[in-house]
Amino acid sequence: MRTQVAIVGGGPAGLLLSHLLHRQGIASVVLESRDRGYVERRQRAGMLEQNTTDVLRGSGAGARLDREGLVHHGIELRFDGTGHRIPITDLTGRTVTIYAQTEIVKDLVALRLADGGDVRFEAEVLALDPSTGTVTFRQDGATHELHADYIAGCDGFHGVSRAAVPDVRTFSRDYPFAWLGILADVAPSTDELIYAHHERGFALHSLRSPSVSRLYLQVATDADLADWSDQRIWDELATRFGTPDGWQLKPGPITDRSVTPMRSFVAEPMRHDRLFLAGDAAHIVPPTGAKGLNLAVSDVTILARALTERYTSGTSALLDAYSATCLSRVWRAEHFSYWMTTLLHADPGADAFDRRVQRAHLEYVASSPAAATSLAENYAGLPLE
Ligand SMILES: Cc1cc2nc3c(=O)[nH]c(=O)nc-3n(C[C@H](O)[C@H](O)[C@H](O)COP(=O)(O)OP(=O)(O)OC[C@H]3O[C@@H](n4cnc5c(N)ncnc54)[C@H](O)[C@@H]3O)c2cc1C
Repeated sequence: MRTQVAIVGGGPAGLLLSHLLHRQGIASVVLESRDRGYVERRQRAGMLEQNTTDVLRGSGAGARLDREGLVHHGIELRFDGTGHRIPITDLTGRTVTIYAQTEIVKDLVALRLADGGDVRFEAEVLALDPSTGTVTFRQDGATHELHADYIAGCDGFHGVSRAAVPDVRTFSRDYPFAWLGILADVAPSTDELIYAHHERGFALHSLRSPSVSRLYLQVATDADLADWSDQRIWDELATRFGTPDGWQLKPGPITDRSVTPMRSFVAEPMRHDRLFLAGDAAHIVPPTGAKGLNLAVSDVTILARALTERYTSGTSALLDAYSATCLSRVWRAEHFSYWMTTLLHADPGADAFDRRVQRAHLEYVASSPAAATSLAENYAGLPLE
């Protein structure tokens, strides 16, 4: 079996890369270990930077996003029971859009299949060889080999691609807390996302649609979902979002729940020989800054351009620059995600001095247009160029 680009992993990074390459006449095969239903239902990101919506629209994958995406112009920071709006669009000229990762994946799978794309579900990659471009995978109980000019490792944090980069250098930070996330069939109690700092821990009120809310609570790293009844979750959310002005959090039926560890991680370099890492395979961020999916999209946009240059003009300058180009953007997002995380969470190891410094930082961001602009331009996403 032969193709031009073998893509390991059919998450947002792998599917979008396959779609972008197809638009340039470049063939690819996507190998995804899970079944289609699992990939389309996995609840994760939902906040899209303007770069991400621009890429989806520009590539013809934005029709449903345009109909159903909710364009936002600001976020609220809430502490001491008081809200402070960060007017993102006023400060940066850019917007962000709420549109769930599940929907992006559904749109991309449907597009690839409609375009005759080769997307193989339940095809698990066992090994890959960056020097020959050979990918070994198992499908229907048999082992196969796929030979390609290039391999894109888009197989997420737990995939096999990263280990194929010899002498890979990794940088990481584990945080002393986790997120308990819920999806609830209830209209959001807010028009814009609320990032709440409370002495009992951070809480985020996000949303997925006019009738579905997405909420998160900072919990201990060893939190057990069995200890979190629906009532306890809603009570804790109400406490952390509480304001003296009568604002009410509307509870509703919880349809999905999970606990996610908080970690920062970067692998360098993002290329070895014919193998290019993209998305969570190369880096992850704590979700506070909403950057993970957006970074995955920027990586594959940069990679698709570089491969297009290689196949159309024969030059490999962009491919050669791929790792450095991506890493500079990745480290910016790593810093911002770390910054937002430490600004807003209650660190169980913090002493009185740390808490006072954190409070001063919150007050500065809430009161200084310069500080708010810095938050806003990172949150909305720096331009891709
Ligand atoms: C709770 C939570 C909230 C988040 N919120 C946001 C947000 O608001 N904004 C944001 O930008 N990001 C957010 N993120 C991060 C975002 O979801 C990820 O960064 C994104 O999924 C990365 O996409 P990816 O395609 O690189 O990796 P993945 O989505 O992990 O996809 C990798 C794929 O590879 C497959 N795979 C793995 N191993 C193999 C193998 N050996 N063979 C074949 N296939 C394989 C996997 O099954 C998977 O489908 C959030 C994450 C979490 C957990």
